[in-house]
Amino acid sequence: MPFSSTTIRDRRRADVRRRDGDAPCALQITADCRVVGGQIDFEARPPHPRSFEVDHVVSSDEAERLGWSSVEADALDNCQAACRQCNREKSSGERPTAAIRPTYVNPRFM
Ligand SMILES: [Zn+2]
Repeated sequence: MPFSSTTIRDRRRADVRRRDGDAPCALQITADCRVVGGQIDFEARPPHPRSFEVDHVVSSDEAERLGWSSVEADALDNCQAACRQCNREKSSGERPTAAIRPTYVNPRFM
């Protein structure tokens, strides 16, 4: 769950808008988004692909893994403006996770 309640979500949208103004989409991972330079249509309502959504820089899943509380995960400094299309793309995409390096065992002592 990205946000614990609709109220927080609405407040975050307003906060991000106040902080970033008419900032372009922070993700710009879809071709449609790139072609318009990431321009977000702040008047558009979902499911319009160019409508404004709040993206979590560190996703809720990652945040949980890092041991962040939901308050920390939803904090304004972890939020950025994105178009709906890119936000969906990011959520649906398999993001590569860093490989865990196996602990080095010196063969001499095996
Ligand atoms: Zn976008």
